[in-house]
Amino acid sequence: MDFSLNETQLAWQMKARKFAAEEIAPISLARDAILDPKHTWDWDIIKKGSKLGFRTAVVSPAFGGHGIDFVTQALVMAELAKADSAISKAFSQCWKWSHLISTVCNEDQKKRFLKAFIEDDTFVLGKGITEPTAGSDNRIPIDDPKAGVRLRAERQGDHWILNGEKAFIANGGVGKLFFLDARTDSSVPIRDGVTLFLIPADTPGFRFGKQFNKAGWRFYMNAELIFENARVPHANVIGEVNGAYRKSKGDTSGGDLFGDLELAANAVGVCDCAVEQSLALARTKEQGGKLLKEQQSVQLRINRMMALTEALRALVMRAAWEHDQKVHAPTAALAMNYSTDVLQEVTELNLSNHDDASPEMAVHADKLVRDSSVWSHLAGDSVQRMRTVRRIIK
Ligand SMILES: Cc1cc2nc3c(=O)[nH]c(=O)nc-3n(C[C@H](O)[C@H](O)[C@H](O)COP(=O)(O)OP(=O)(O)OC[C@H]3O[C@@H](n4cnc5c(N)ncnc54)[C@H](O)[C@@H]3O)c2cc1C
Repeated sequence: MDFSLNETQLAWQMKARKFAAEEIAPISLARDAILDPKHTWDWDIIKKGSKLGFRTAVVSPAFGGHGIDFVTQALVMAELAKADSAISKAFSQCWKWSHLISTVCNEDQKKRFLKAFIEDDTFVLGKGITEPTAGSDNRIPIDDPKAGVRLRAERQGDHWILNGEKAFIANGGVGKLFFLDARTDSSVPIRDGVTLFLIPADTPGFRFGKQFNKAGWRFYMNAELIFENARVPHANVIGEVNGAYRKSKGDTSGGDLFGDLELAANAVGVCDCAVEQSLALARTKEQGGKLLKEQQSVQLRINRMMALTEALRALVMRAAWEHDQKVHAPTAALAMNYSTDVLQEVTELNLSNHDDASPEMAVHADKLVRDSSVWSHLAGDSVQRMRTVRRIIK
């Protein structure tokens, strides 16, 4: 396999590296330290990144985007995450859902939403699946009508009336458009009774609720979406009524796979940051009359951190390359699962190297550990990983 990068891939990687070092790194720790989760977000960094193309990177040039390939996506996410994992995710979250607009929405929906998304530097996207009483159940559908999505949508002429709540929704509080799973038939399992809607933030009867306070990824907004007799036009239904699960199944353009690649590539950047921190510390800090780099325990930790990071990078780049070559293999899902283990071990080892080191470095090492804890609660949740195993052994 040839891992060399072409000129376009290299140019995006260098652009992301520069933006990460010059714009993201200087604000990362300060945003992380803000106590109120409502105020950790920074529009300035989003606007600057958007002007460089990081918000609209995956939309096809036919629709005004940049159409970068999966290898480039992995490179960019890792570079941005090296400076701040949550800010990297804030951009790639838009990739995940803008891709959905261009692949599963009809022409009228594309005209109404894709153009606005491309033109407005503050237009960020989200998708509401999780509810206060249903997270895993919505991702590993169970054949019981009582399980999963409870947010209801009832048809009234040309509109749908939505009532209920979503929880933990990324870009909640700042997003301008949300994809939303709502129950349109509660007599059948969610596979056959859920419809996918487009919800602009100014929809009457829709509002943001509480902003969740997380240990890691503090920049990243996770809020409640609350629907109280919200009126949504029928024109905002994506695909068929009751077809939300069938719709995403039929999407062969790579969106499902992207979620796995996204988190694994982001983890590579965080691991790179941890390795750099430990190397800098080992080369500069003295302990017992000699530099830390002379201590065998520190050498062993750094060796393991680097080996794990390079193994993860190789797997991520292979997964990205396979996506681009249309090779159907479960590599991205494996990389996602592996990234959770690697990331959490690497950031813990980095923190161990720091122990009583300078307060600023320990704060940064601590942030990486907190950020990496998030991987246990997203698609890498231990039960949801069963999906991957199922795909591989079936
Ligand atoms: C940073 C962050 C961003 C997020 N962004 C979004 C977003 O944009 N949109 C969105 O919709 N959601 C989002 N989520 C929510 C996330 O997808 C859910 O937290 C996740 O799916 C788990 O659901 P839950 O929290 O309801 O846990 P539950 O499903 O209630 O699970 C709780 C515990 O029970 C275990 N469990 C569940 N089912 C089973 C089973 N069948 N057998 C054995 N054990 C089981 C789980 O492993 C877990 O340990 C986000 C979460 C975080 C932390």
